[in-house]
Amino acid sequence: MYRNRLLITEEQIQHRVRELAEDLNKEYRGKSLDIVSVLKGAMIFTSDLIRLLEMDVRIHFLQALSYSSGTESSETVNLHFTSVFDIRDCDVLLVEDILDTGITLDYLVKHLKENAPGSIRICVLLDKPDRRKLNIQADYVGFQIPDDFVIGYGLDYLEYGRQLKYIGVLDRSEYEK
Ligand code: 5GP
Ligand code: MG
Repeated sequence: MYRNRLLITEEQIQHRVRELAEDLNKEYRGKSLDIVSVLKGAMIFTSDLIRLLEMDVRIHFLQALSYSSGTESSETVNLHFTSVFDIRDCDVLLVEDILDTGITLDYLVKHLKENAPGSIRICVLLDKPDRRKLNIQADYVGFQIPDDFVIGYGLDYLEYGRQLKYIGVLDRSEYEK
């Protein structure tokens, strides 16, 4: 496991996920919600969140590859769909691990809008507002965090660290070698 220091505890995450689910249960009460979850980083957040939702939900996955390596963002996004899904006229909630520069989510929202959803909102576990390059905001945010590279609760460094129950800041010595 790469060295990291605790930023957000398991208890804090679970508490905040419950609050987000309560907000969503109010907003979408009596409706059917199409969740589009971005692999791989959002998988754990998504699976905890959906088990607290009371409305009907359908889950879809897609994979957006924007990080070519390590901790630096690349500016092009490649999309892979695990299955074809129709969201025309549906209420869509895009669930992502982290909103950083905004390039990934901006691209995904534009792509999904081409499929004429009835509504589309964004839910992210983490938000790094200081890093934003594009003017995009999430409708639901778990935690705002400083500009540090984090791992855990689904987020990786070179594919490791997703299994951590907490969120930790990656030790700089791990990537400044
Ligand atoms: P953006 O396109 O907003 O710059 O980046 C979004 C994607 O970059 C996220 O889905 C995530 O995969 C990755 N990313 C951005 N910041 C971090 C971070 O601190 N830790 C990890 N593990 N991934 C990050
Ligand atoms: Mg990601």
